[in-house]
Amino acid sequence: MFRNEPFSDFSSSSERRALQTALDSLNDRISGGGLTARPLVQNKECKTQNIFSRENPADPSIIIGRTEFADITLTDKALQSLSAGQVEWRNVPSERRVQILRTIAGKMRERRHFFSALMILEAGKPWKEADADVAEAIDFCEYYALEMERLSIPQQVSDVPGEDSQYFYQPRGVCVVISPWNFPLAIACGMAVAALVTGNTVALKPAEQTSLVAYEFSKLVYESGVPDNAFAFLPGKGEEIGAYLVADPRVHMICFTGSKAVGLEIIREAGKTSSQQSFVKKVVAELGGKNAIIVDESADIDESIKGVIHSAFGYSGQKCSACSRLIVAKSIYQNFVDRLCEAAKDLIVGPAADPGTTVCPVIDAEAQMRIAKTIQEGQATLKFGFRGEVPPKGCYIGQTIFIDVPPSSPLWRNEIFGPVLCCTASETFEKAVELAVDSEYALTGAVYSRTPDNLEYARRNFRVGNLYINRPSTGALVGRHPFGGFKLSGVGSKAGGPDYLLQFMEPRTVTENTHRKGFMVKGSS
Ligand code: NAD
Repeated sequence: MFRNEPFSDFSSSSERRALQTALDSLNDRISGGGLTARPLVQNKECKTQNIFSRENPADPSIIIGRTEFADITLTDKALQSLSAGQVEWRNVPSERRVQILRTIAGKMRERRHFFSALMILEAGKPWKEADADVAEAIDFCEYYALEMERLSIPQQVSDVPGEDSQYFYQPRGVCVVISPWNFPLAIACGMAVAALVTGNTVALKPAEQTSLVAYEFSKLVYESGVPDNAFAFLPGKGEEIGAYLVADPRVHMICFTGSKAVGLEIIREAGKTSSQQSFVKKVVAELGGKNAIIVDESADIDESIKGVIHSAFGYSGQKCSACSRLIVAKSIYQNFVDRLCEAAKDLIVGPAADPGTTVCPVIDAEAQMRIAKTIQEGQATLKFGFRGEVPPKGCYIGQTIFIDVPPSSPLWRNEIFGPVLCCTASETFEKAVELAVDSEYALTGAVYSRTPDNLEYARRNFRVGNLYINRPSTGALVGRHPFGGFKLSGVGSKAGGPDYLLQFMEPRTVTENTHRKGFMVKGSS
């Protein structure tokens, strides 16, 4: 039976000390010259001249490490090896592949605080969020291992005398995994191990900003027993290496998580079937969100405020599931918004390495500039409810609440991916749901209410991939809350759910007429 990996309990001093020790030891390595990552092809580190330096988002004067990016020649070599390795990996018994996933999970457990510390420094992810990211990565390995055990048993699909008909799955071939920076370990790991356990060979292209975490994960993939020509780690620029991988005719499948713009571009490119291809590429794409929380007049106000704050400002709103729109019943709107702004004042803005931080720096200076510009544009027509102060250096955007935002505002409609919340009032619950689903996205949503009729109405009409009732809109757990959206939030089945692995395989049916006239031994006549 599957059970979620427990989170570390940082109220215990020994857990706090363990993570602090991991952070200290990484900081020593950083002051001693920084960390290094290189592409891994056929389980060998490959030197390149294209160096990407990752700055600490809390203090960009500190270089966390340097990643040597893959070039096209190396990418080509990796694809050649992954193509050649397909049949061998496909023929490895699924029991062995399942066992490898469990080994990967075990190694991540052993290095749990190391991975958390690296995420805290490289991605600016606060303690608890970084710890939950490692737990989710472990969950993906354990859950997909169990799922593969279920799916590797051929199904008897006919019940007719004289006929044996079996339905089973085969892998697709070479799978390119392209991951985002906001769940640097969990998402890269989840997509990669799903592709591997189903028998595909995998090229992992991580987000530039979090190449160091992905590199450490990739080393662990080989250490756990994945053969040299079944996996490659290819850090690099999305538009260069990512686009090259997507277009290559040797690639059967692309598993992508990231922005709507890049996802749609990948879907377009993968739809072009070259004359060297004898198959249609499959794309699984998990994209953005513009998630709403509805609070009605019957809601528990304390709980709802806590839930909204957590959903909107945890990890500085840099989650696809983060709440960026709040719709409150008109009769309680003013009081609710006043209390929400008071609660927002208490949030600690600071470096992720400080265990008390909620509002951490955003991922890099480019994101900081983009979000600051969006806020500035909003400011011209919208009213601030609250704006958090920020430390003098670092890529910070304070927690920002806009009130009375009309649904026509670009801030109401576009994904911002930062700690920015837009609030509005609604006359009726039906109108609130209408506002919530009036979006090109359909990823997550939440409702705070103690009125059964409203909850039933929301279940039927608040159509998003993951709807949460009387709890925050973030924090999906593998197996318990299979995760993913529809509309422009993506195509594909939910990560951490019972249909996910099916996307990495093709079904086959073999039917035998068993009314045969005896057997022949091979070679006899
Ligand atoms: P992004 O789209 O900028 O980048 C994602 C990945 O795509 C990176 O590895 C990048 O290098 C690569 N890439 C960029 N251009 C490419 C191209 N032309 N061809 C191939 N690859 C290319 O996204 P991001 O900034 O890393 O992540 C934030 C986005 O991800 C947000 O929109 C967020 O909502 C979304 N996201 C969605 C989910 C989900 O489960 N639905 C989860 C996490 C993040």
